[in-house]
Amino acid sequence: MSDNEFDVIFIGGGPGGYAGAIRAGQLGLKTLLIDDRQGEDGKPAPGGTCLNVGCIPSKALLDSSKHFHHIQHDYTAHGIRTEGVSMDIDKMLERKRKVVKQLNTGLIQLFKANKVEFVNGRGKLFSERQVEVSPNDGDKYTASGGHVVLAAGSVPFSIPDVEVDNEYILDNVGALEIPEVPGRFGVIGAGVIGLEMGSVWSRLGAETVLFEALEEFLPAVDRDMAKVAQREFKKQKLDIRMGCKVNGAEVADGKVKLSYNDGKEDHEEVFDRLLVSVGRKAATDNLIADDSGVEVTDRGQVEVDARCHTSAENIWAIGDLVRGPMLAHKASEEGIAVAESIAGQAGHVNLETVPWVIYTDPEIAWVGKTEAQLKEEGVEFRTGSFPFAATGRGLAMGNAAGQVKILADAENDELLGCQIVGSTASEFIGEVVVAMEFNGSAEDLARIIHAHPTLSEAVHEAALAVDKRAIHKAN
Ligand code: FAD
Ligand code: NAD
Repeated sequence: MSDNEFDVIFIGGGPGGYAGAIRAGQLGLKTLLIDDRQGEDGKPAPGGTCLNVGCIPSKALLDSSKHFHHIQHDYTAHGIRTEGVSMDIDKMLERKRKVVKQLNTGLIQLFKANKVEFVNGRGKLFSERQVEVSPNDGDKYTASGGHVVLAAGSVPFSIPDVEVDNEYILDNVGALEIPEVPGRFGVIGAGVIGLEMGSVWSRLGAETVLFEALEEFLPAVDRDMAKVAQREFKKQKLDIRMGCKVNGAEVADGKVKLSYNDGKEDHEEVFDRLLVSVGRKAATDNLIADDSGVEVTDRGQVEVDARCHTSAENIWAIGDLVRGPMLAHKASEEGIAVAESIAGQAGHVNLETVPWVIYTDPEIAWVGKTEAQLKEEGVEFRTGSFPFAATGRGLAMGNAAGQVKILADAENDELLGCQIVGSTASEFIGEVVVAMEFNGSAEDLARIIHAHPTLSEAVHEAALAVDKRAIHKAN
């Protein structure tokens, strides 16, 4: 094989591409990974949206702002005096950048350790699996792959008459770098990013208003659980306005004027910063030449089969570029599965058991089907729920908001779904995912010993409640 020939070339180094490339390296495949992202210092910044302007920096800010909020609102109940606490936004942002940088550097070391050749630059796929490589600091050349994996991720949707400048009108990139707490923070879209970034700046003191086009709050979540979450956000003074259609926004004199219609009449509001978080679309621009043979769907995603293989021979696509939830762990599992398929193994990802988490406080985590979906599919089911307020640990922590709800097949008790609104729900949704992967039943979860006192006991009790035999609440 010549220097520019590879067993597999990954285009895009987010959680899909980099995890796939590392796995390919482990499997002994000669692997090239191309990613165009650079940090503020001009150095390569692999890790994609997730590491650089998504999952990790948003969670760093969510954690910093959560500490600040708890100190201000919850510590006195524990007997801790907190007069004179203030927030240093520069320091908070610096900490976030350090976390990202540390992980960027760690990835580059992992590429070396797994013999993955890494190029910081752009890749474009042509016919016959020829990839044009344009390094950020060198001349263009062509590499060819036995297989090519497209892993270019996604970019934010825009809306007409709301132009993102990332100074006053922001997308996810700007929302992670606001230099001071805005007096008023507007958010278009009460989805995942809107709720997470709205929480960050609201906890730090911004009067935060979210404008959501739909009438229904978080339609992917069970209706009663969405209500539980909405009630908590109201207590936190997140002003979420449903059924609002944005007409446009303009910047003047350092303020953003937003005009919208609430279904009855037009209104105007003025904000110091405005976030646009109305969903994301596959990043196919300038990725695939017309003669590559790769088909794109009406929704602009790369068309793939269940194994992530595209319409062109030995060309694969993964992560946010293809169908399924736009989540980092889903992208990684697809990258790994594709590497294993290429190496002749049985790569497989079960999209039915991908867990979701929204990192608000309380967190919202779920897996599997909601009540509405099961009713639509005509599946008979039983439910069991349990509030954290009835757990000893929740009360001892002073953090007992929310509940767990489990859905199980009425006939054979197989677990069909679970929804959790509660502190650190992200950590214990995992046990339900494991149980579902093993085709477990509610009774299986009910018979597993859960340590006491823990928040996860609410999962245990909700599983018992499916059979109306919860111990710490009336059934
Ligand atoms: P990406 O991470 O988008 O990576 C693709 C990479 O390819 C990018 O670096 C891009 O610059 C590069 N690229 C694109 N085209 C080319 C090309 N032609 N040549 C070379 N390089 C190219 N998901 C979660 O699971 N948990 C979370 O907590 C979470 N939080 C999020 C918070 C925010 C604010 C955002 C925006 C997203 C969040 N997500 C979260 C979603 C998550 O970031 C994505 O699902 C995930 O990054 C998708 O991974 P990917 O590998 O498909 O693509
Ligand atoms: P989203 O789909 O979660 O939410 C977008 C919201 O904007 C929706 O509720 C939609 O109805 C609303 N909307 C659309 N157009 C509108 C308009 N013109 N006016 C008002 N509202 C409008 O999308 P997002 O929040 O941009 O996030 C994109 C994706 O990134 C998520 O779907 C998720 O896959 C991923 N993400 C995941 C996490 C996580 O896992 N914790 C965090 C952030 C982002």
